[in-house]
Amino acid sequence: MRLLLVEDERPLAAALGRGLREEGHQVDLCENGADALAQARALPYDVILLDWGLPDLDGLSVLRAWRREGLQTPVIMLTARGAVAEKVAGFDAGADDYLPKPFAFEELLARLGALARRGGGGATGLRAQVGDLVLHVPRRSLARGDAEVTLTAREFDLAGALFARPGDVVTRSELLGRVWGPDFDGEPNVVDVYVGYLRKKIARLAPEGAVLETVRGLGWRLRAER
Ligand code: CA
Repeated sequence: MRLLLVEDERPLAAALGRGLREEGHQVDLCENGADALAQARALPYDVILLDWGLPDLDGLSVLRAWRREGLQTPVIMLTARGAVAEKVAGFDAGADDYLPKPFAFEELLARLGALARRGGGGATGLRAQVGDLVLHVPRRSLARGDAEVTLTAREFDLAGALFARPGDVVTRSELLGRVWGPDFDGEPNVVDVYVGYLRKKIARLAPEGAVLETVRGLGWRLRAER
């Protein structure tokens, strides 16, 4: 699994990182909340291990920010604080699990395994493909080969609507209804804005066989060939 470890206690971070890598996981480390926010936006992770007490933002604020942005990656909170009220706050903020320090490494591995099974991600997860562009449903990401970008909740829903009908023109009103819901009463060109975001992420992957094109006056079409 690709893991993000957010922990400011260096000896603990080093020991956990080493142990997890020995288990075959790929581990990235952040030592503060600001770096963690940026890192999880930049790369898709299977599970995030998040310390509660960080030097800048506390882990709970970081978790809240991720969930507000639609990041659905499972998060295990690590903390020395064992109080019930704080545990509840962690779950309310969107934590999937909670591990009080100190914990046995085997316990962490067991929790990771349980979350991975529940998430159903990786090769066994749902995916849609247009050309060489792959939409990973459990990971909420777009990928081409080994390159992968995470999508926000809106971008993911938009991509889902386009991947569901490759080659077809999907209209603005269809996308509004499907992604923003029938009660949406804002500006309809919000669709154009999000198509722009999605197109930028697709461009980052530089797909050879897939293109998201504008069909003037009608809508957008995700095609398998240029
Ligand atoms: Ca800490």
